Amino acid sequence: MTLTTHNLGFPRIGGDRELKKAQEAYWRGEIDQTQLEQVGRELRRAHWQLQADAGVDLIPTGDFAWYDQVLTLSATLGNIPARHRNNAMATVAPQKQDDQACCAHHSNAHEPSEWASAPCKDIDLDTLFRVARGRAPTGQATTASDMTKWFDTNYHYLVPEFHAGQTFQLSWRQIIDETAEAIALGHKVKPVILGPLSYLFLGKEKGAAFDRFDLLDNLLPAYQQLLTALSQAGASWVQIDEPILVLDLPEKWQRAFEPVYNRLQHSKLKVLLATYFGTLGDNLPIAANLPVAGLHIDAVRAPEQVLTLIDHLQDHKILSIGVVDGRNIWRNDLEKSLTLLKQARERIGDRLWVAPSCSLLHSPVNVEREEKLPEDIKSWLAFAKQKVQEVVTLKTLLTNPEDATAQAALEDSSAAAQARLSSKKIHNTEVQARLQAITPDHARRDSIFALRIAKQQALLQLPPFPTTTIGSFPQTDHIRQTRSEFKQGKINAVEYENRIRQEIADCIAKQEQLGIDVLVHGEAERNDMVEYFGEQLNGYAFTQYGWVQSYGSRCVKPPIIYGDVSRPAPITVSWARYAQSLSKKPVKGMLTGPITMLFWSFVRDDQPRETTALQIALALSDEVVDLESAGIQVIQIDEPAIREGLPLREKDRKEYLDWAVKAFRITASGVQDETQIHTHMCYSEFNDIIKAIADLDADVITIETSRSDGELLQAFEQFNYPNDIGPGVYDIHSPNVPEVQTMVNLLKRAAREIPAERLWVNPDCGLKTRRWPETEAALARMVEAAKILRAQV
Ligand code: GLN
Ligand code: ZN
Repeated sequence: MTLTTHNLGFPRIGGDRELKKAQEAYWRGEIDQTQLEQVGRELRRAHWQLQADAGVDLIPTGDFAWYDQVLTLSATLGNIPARHRNNAMATVAPQKQDDQACCAHHSNAHEPSEWASAPCKDIDLDTLFRVARGRAPTGQATTASDMTKWFDTNYHYLVPEFHAGQTFQLSWRQIIDETAEAIALGHKVKPVILGPLSYLFLGKEKGAAFDRFDLLDNLLPAYQQLLTALSQAGASWVQIDEPILVLDLPEKWQRAFEPVYNRLQHSKLKVLLATYFGTLGDNLPIAANLPVAGLHIDAVRAPEQVLTLIDHLQDHKILSIGVVDGRNIWRNDLEKSLTLLKQARERIGDRLWVAPSCSLLHSPVNVEREEKLPEDIKSWLAFAKQKVQEVVTLKTLLTNPEDATAQAALEDSSAAAQARLSSKKIHNTEVQARLQAITPDHARRDSIFALRIAKQQALLQLPPFPTTTIGSFPQTDHIRQTRSEFKQGKINAVEYENRIRQEIADCIAKQEQLGIDVLVHGEAERNDMVEYFGEQLNGYAFTQYGWVQSYGSRCVKPPIIYGDVSRPAPITVSWARYAQSLSKKPVKGMLTGPITMLFWSFVRDDQPRETTALQIALALSDEVVDLESAGIQVIQIDEPAIREGLPLREKDRKEYLDWAVKAFRITASGVQDETQIHTHMCYSEFNDIIKAIADLDADVITIETSRSDGELLQAFEQFNYPNDIGPGVYDIHSPNVPEVQTMVNLLKRAAREIPAERLWVNPDCGLKTRRWPETEAALARMVEAAKILRAQV
C-alpha cells in the first residue's frame, strides 16, 4: 500500500458551462435526449481524464448529475413524487397523486438482478427535470420539489419528499452506469453517494404526519441493492457522504449511525465515510468508531480535528485528510499543508489519504484560462484543475520529496503566499481607518419603525396590499447582447446607456400598465446581482470563466474579494434617477446587501469575514445615501444570503448574526425616516434567524413563501414580526402562471396572523430568469389578487 490521493467530486457543469447550455437547449426542444446525453458523456470523460492525467489515484463517479446529485439519488432509490412520475396518471388515483411517493411499478419487491434487467419505467431523464421544474407527465403544471441550500454553500439541492410507510427500490441506474462507464475507460474509480442518514435528514415529510427517521428500515435495503450493483459494476471503494455529522444532531440520529453502517457492510465494497464543511465535534467518536474502512474529514474548516481523530482511529482504518480547500479559490499553501500531513503520516503511515476538503463542485474549473486577471492575483489562485494537481503534489512531496517538479511547485506556492501577504493591492489604510471609526450610531435609524412608517406612508400614499416586484425583470436576449457588445467594445458608452435606458423605460411602462404600485427599474444593466456591484468596488477581482453551479442549469460567477473594499464612485444612482424620472409612482432603488456581497463572492482567507463585511457595508452605505439624495424614496437592500452564512453549529451562530445584522444596519441607516428601506430574502427557512431578521429593522421585507405553501411565513407570524412584510405569492422558478385565487388565499391566510395593513403583494423573487409573456400574465393576476383583497379584507 502506498499513500493514496482521491477526489470527492469534480464540477460537472464544464469549463464553458457545456452542461448548462445543453440542458437548456434540451428544455427548449432544440436538441434531443441523445444529444443531451452525448454532452454529459463527453464532460464526464474529459473530467475523469483530467483527474487521471493529474495523477489522482481514485477518481469520483456519481458526481455528475443532470440537475442535482440529491435528486439523482432520489431517483436511484425510487423516491420520486407520484405527481412527477411517468405513470402518475395511469396508476395513481387522481386524488392521491400528491400523497404517494415511491414507485408503484416496484410495489412487489424486485431482486437486484431482476431490477438490473428491468429498470423502472416510471423514472427517466424527463422525470428528473419534472421534479425540478414542476411539471406533470402530461406537461401540465404541478408543484416542483422544494429546493434548498446545501449546508452553508450557495449550491441548492432538491429536497427529497418522504411519505409515511413508503418503501424504496433501486429505480434509476445512472450512478451505476456511469461507474461502469468510467471503469470501461480504464479509470480506477470510487462512486460517491449521499449516505442514508444524511439523505433522510435533509429531506422532509409530506402527507400524513410521521417521522421520516422511521423510514430507515425501509430505506436501507435499497442502499444495499445500490452497493451490490456498484460492486458488480466493478467498484471496490464507495464514498458515502454523511455531511450531517458536522451538524448538531438529535441523539436519536447520532445513535443510528452505528447500526446503519453495520447493515451497510458489504463483502466486496469498502466504504469511505466522508464528512465535510466543518468539525465533527461531539460526533467525532461516532464517526471514528463506525464499521467502515475509512473516514474523510475537512481539514480546511477544522484542521484541529485531525490529530484528535487520529487518537480515536482504529488501526486498520484509512484517514483521508481534506487539506485543499474545495470551497474557495486560494492557492494552497503547500508548505503549511505538508506540515499537517507529515504529522499525520508519522502516526498512521500510508493509511493516510490526501484529498480536497469537499467536492470541487463548489469551485470553478480552471484558472489557467483566465486571461484578464492581473498576473499577481492570478498567481494566488487555484480552481478545480489546479486543486487536483495540488493534492497530487502533496502526495509526491510526502512520498518522494526529491522530485524536482514537486519541489518547484512547493517553492512557487510559498513565494505566492509571501507575495500575497505583503501586496500593496490588498491593504488600504483609509478603509481601515473608517472601519475603526464606526460607532453604534452608524447602525441605527433616527426613529423607531412605527414613527418611520407613518412618515413614509404620508409621503408614498400607497393603497392597502401594495404591489411590487423584487427587482429584476426578464433578461431578454437583447439585453444580454447589449451588455456583451458593450463589454467587447462593439458599442460605446453612449450607445450602451441609451439602450439600457430604453429597457428601463419599457420596463417602467409595462409596470405602470399592469398597475403595480412600487416600481423597479428592472436591473437590465446587471449580469448578476453580486458581480455587478463588485465590478464597481475596489478590492474585487473578476474571472471570465469562474462559473460555479448554483442549481440545475443555473451558474454563478462569484467575484473574488482579495483586498480592502471601497466605492470609488456611485454605482446605481444614474439608472435609478432616470427610472424615477419616468413615473409619478415610487421607483425602488436596488442594491445587493453586504452579507450577500460577501457570501456570494470568494472571500479573503487572510482576515475575519466580519471585517470584510463591514468594509462592504461602509461602501454600500454611501450608495444608499446617494440614492436618497437623488430623490429615491424606497431603497431595497437584497440579502438573500443571510442564512447561508449561518454557521452550521448552534454555538457559533450568535456571533455571526451579530456582525451580519450590524453590517446590514450600517448599510441602511444613513437615510431619513421618510426613506423606506426594503430587504429581500429567498429560499430560506426563517425560524432560526427570525430574531436577527427583525433586528435588521428594514421597513419592509419580501420573502419567498409560495413554494412551501406559506410555511415559511409561520416564523414571522409566531415571532410577531413587527415591520411590513411581503410574502411571495407565486413561484418565479417555474414558468407556470399562478391562479388569482391561490394568491388571494395565501394572503388571506397571512392576514389572519399579520395585520393586513402591514402586508405587501409581490412574487417570491426576481423575474430575470422568466420570459415576458408569462411575467406579464402572472403580474396581471397578482395585481388582480391585490384588488380583490383590498375589496374584501
Ligand atoms: N433584486 C434581485 C432580483 O430581483 C434579487 C434576487 C435574489 O434575491 N436572488 O433579481
Ligand atoms: Zn430572491
